Amino acid sequence: MYAIIYIIGIFLRYAIIVSMRFSKTFVKTLREAPKDETAKNGALLTRAGYIHKEMAGVYDYLPLGLRVLENIKTIIREELNKIGCEEVLMSSLQNPEPWEKTGRFSDQEVDIWFKTELSSGGTLGLAPTHEEPITELLKSYISSYRDLPLYVYQFQTKFRNELRAKSGILRGREFLMKDLYSFHTSEEDLNRFYAEVEKAYGRIFERLGIGDLTFETFASGGIFSKYSHEFQTLLPVGEDTVYYNADKSVVLNKEVLNPEVLTDLGVSREDLEENTAAEVGNIFKLKFKYSEPLGLKYIDEKNAQKTVYMGCYGIGVSRLMGVIAERFADNKGLVWPESVAPFKYYLVGIGENGNRVAEEFYAEHKTETFFDDRDSRPGEKFADADLIGLPYRLVISDKTLAENSAELTNRQTGESKLIKLSEI
Ligand code: ATP
Ligand code: MG
Repeated sequence: MYAIIYIIGIFLRYAIIVSMRFSKTFVKTLREAPKDETAKNGALLTRAGYIHKEMAGVYDYLPLGLRVLENIKTIIREELNKIGCEEVLMSSLQNPEPWEKTGRFSDQEVDIWFKTELSSGGTLGLAPTHEEPITELLKSYISSYRDLPLYVYQFQTKFRNELRAKSGILRGREFLMKDLYSFHTSEEDLNRFYAEVEKAYGRIFERLGIGDLTFETFASGGIFSKYSHEFQTLLPVGEDTVYYNADKSVVLNKEVLNPEVLTDLGVSREDLEENTAAEVGNIFKLKFKYSEPLGLKYIDEKNAQKTVYMGCYGIGVSRLMGVIAERFADNKGLVWPESVAPFKYYLVGIGENGNRVAEEFYAEHKTETFFDDRDSRPGEKFADADLIGLPYRLVISDKTLAENSAELTNRQTGESKLIKLSEI
């Protein structure tokens, strides 16, 4: 009996979480973007009801927007779990102590801190990243070579007091990041894992629909390798400038473009094309940068104490949502790749019969369907379908029902065809 109630409960909850009717959601589309929203991603995502701006660089994610973020997270999570990473969730409030040991609590060293006072006295920070706390945390769990290697990641809100925050969700003062940290006994092992992450990132951006626009890029900031690597997605409003050769086998950030680097990489300036891009990920071989000052050590096979090798690997989850939104949008609105779209179908019923059959279809395909069941004109619904940008619009009307069909329109190509209801 209890088991049955439990199972029914799960079904109900599932139905409640996943189904979405336009008439029931509090979200409304807007004809105009708010005046203070100058970035295209911010303007479109606001108009289409995905996000709500609180203030510069600070956004809320509404039901549709949250689904996009969750879809991006799921893809990242699946690919990281495949290479053996373990997920955690660390705190945002930061004890200054470990940061003081690396010199990074100082506002002179790191100029984007948000800090706050404890009512009992003393200062805390709001985490802009997590190298220090994860290193400190793992001192309690790593003691022997048998505990290594170890790969730990999280999805978490980061706080950065960014000077310029007018690029919509591309640059937030509060934003969602995936940060992964790896721990090793040797440089070789760090190199091995770094290469695995490079491949996993390739698969992630491929699955997100931006594989052919995203390039691993030589950038500054390497610790014992000369470079760090960024993942840059070509984007007209991107803040970074990248240079690449024709087949894009060599891509470098402008910040490292100099004669020495060109020689290193075996390319000449004339062969490189310039473009703008947005940094969606960044990977570093940290070596001992944090493990040394924080004292993260282990005992090796010969009983000698050694310092742990580290790497760190970021992805801007909320920035990615903005990049994808901005990159694929057309003059009618958003155009989501299927893998990140909040729903696959935008369902519209026209006329009494059309609406009745649409209801039936919706009852069977709730998880994939956003049902525009509002009492408004078809033209208005079609305009919102284009703005919201789901991969397919499905229209059921007397005309289509005469053929036992629905009209399926591909948002990206604009192509329409009749499809038998039984085949959907
Ligand atoms: P940027 O040069 O754009 O400021 P960063 O080098 O400071 O980025 P990291 O500290 O490496 O970035 O953070 C990892 C990832 O988080 C970045 O690759 C980027 O995609 C994302 N990110 C960084 N800052 C922001 C921000 N203010 N808003 C949204 N995403 C961000
Ligand atoms: Mg930055």
